[in-house]
Amino acid sequence: MPERTDVRIHATAEVSSAAAIGPGTSIWHQAQVREGARIGAECVIGKNVYVDVDVVIGHRCKVQNNVSLFHGVTLEDGVFIGPHACFTNDRLPRAINADGSLKTDDDWEIAPTLVRRGAAIGANSTILPGVTIGAWAMVGSGSVVTRDVAPHELVVGNPARRLGSACTCGQTVRDADDGASFRGACPRCGAALPAEHGA
Ligand SMILES: [Zn+2]
Repeated sequence: MPERTDVRIHATAEVSSAAAIGPGTSIWHQAQVREGARIGAECVIGKNVYVDVDVVIGHRCKVQNNVSLFHGVTLEDGVFIGPHACFTNDRLPRAINADGSLKTDDDWEIAPTLVRRGAAIGANSTILPGVTIGAWAMVGSGSVVTRDVAPHELVVGNPARRLGSACTCGQTVRDADDGASFRGACPRCGAALPAEHGA
């Protein structure tokens, strides 16, 4: 069994003994963490969150209530996932085969999904399989992300489209009407934008 120190797991959460949980992490009511999952240090895993088999979560991530993280998802450090966000892992879902027989886990391939450091995903967003969301990117609430999102990019809608940039501090700035990215100091923290990709 992986070693656990200073971990807070609510009595109603169901955490596999074969999951690794880092120090200082809290797992709240009715959350389920499956075997092989790895959660880093100082994370907050909200009420009713589902962490599937072998999912990897970095350090200091916040995963809000009712989020589903399915097999194939990796969150780097410092990722924010808003409430009710859903990660999918099957682009072409069917319950049954053409002959009517039930599909099994062997009938589909995992498409890895990666959320890079510091990125934030708004409430009730849906993330399709196989996409990478860049460092410090921001996904607006209710978006459906069907393609990769660049570092520091702000996307919204269904399908999610670029609207502007997001500073490391969280401030967003819109692109100009001609599509040009904002250039200058962040109106909130004064950092130079566009920020360095991946920073
Ligand atoms: Zn800023």
